[in-house]
Amino acid sequence: MVVIDGHTHFAGPGNGFPPNTVEDLLAIMDGNGIDSIVTCAPYSSIGKDRTYDDANRFLVESMSKAPERIIGFLRVNPHLQEHALRSIEDGVKNQSFKGVKVHPRNEAFAINSEELAFPIAELASKLKVPILIHTGEPDTYGFAQPTLVGDLADSFPDLTLIIGHMGKRLYEDAICVARWFENIILETSFRSHRDIARAVKRVGADRVVYGSDMPFGVPEIEMMKVRLADITSEEKGLVLGDNMARTLGLGVDR
Ligand SMILES: [Zn+2]
Repeated sequence: MVVIDGHTHFAGPGNGFPPNTVEDLLAIMDGNGIDSIVTCAPYSSIGKDRTYDDANRFLVESMSKAPERIIGFLRVNPHLQEHALRSIEDGVKNQSFKGVKVHPRNEAFAINSEELAFPIAELASKLKVPILIHTGEPDTYGFAQPTLVGDLADSFPDLTLIIGHMGKRLYEDAICVARWFENIILETSFRSHRDIARAVKRVGADRVVYGSDMPFGVPEIEMMKVRLADITSEEKGLVLGDNMARTLGLGVDR
C-alpha cells in the first residue's frame, strides 16, 4: 500500500513552522509510514514582492533531494496575473511541479473569479495538472466556499480540482459539489472520521484523499481519522494513497 499525504506545506528556516529541512521532513514521513507528500509553500513564505518565487525555488531544491518522495505544487499569487501564469507554465514544464495550490483567503480572491482564477484553471487544464484549493470557514466567506469550486469544475471539465479541508465546517457543501462534478476530489484534513466515512459513501472512495495540512495539522492524527473511519480496508487504501498516486500519474507499486 502506498501512503501519500495529499496536502502539506514546507519552507526553509525562518519562513514557516518546522520541519524546515528535507532531513527533518523525511524523518517525520518515515515515522508515520508516509511514502510521499504533496507540498507547497506556506503563506508565511510569501516574499516582499508578493510572489512565492523564493519559496517555490526552495521546493525545487528540496524535490531534487528526494524526487520520489517530495511532490511539489506551485504556489502563486493570482493577482500577479501574468507572473502567476508564467510561473505555472515554467514550473510544470521545467521544474517538475505536479500541481498548483491556491488559497483564496490568503491571496484575497474569489475562487470562481473569471478575471483571477479562470486563467489559472485554463492553464492547469492545458498542462494536465490538478489545482489544490483551500476551502472552508466563515473567514473565507465570499472567497472560498466549497460550492464555488463547482463553477471552476463546470467551466473546466478536464481539470482536476482538489477541495482542501473538504470545506472544513462546510463539509456538507463540499460533499454536494463533489457529487455534482466528477472532476472534484475531497481532501480530508481537519474533518472527523465520521465526515470522512460520509464523504466516501456519498462521493465514492476513489475521490477522497488523505491530507494533513502539516505543519498546521499533524499527519499522525489526520491519518488516524482515515484509519478509524467506518469504511473498508480497500477504501482506506484508496484514500490514504492510491487515489493521489492515480491523480498525479505516479506508479503505485513503489
Ligand atoms: Zn494548504
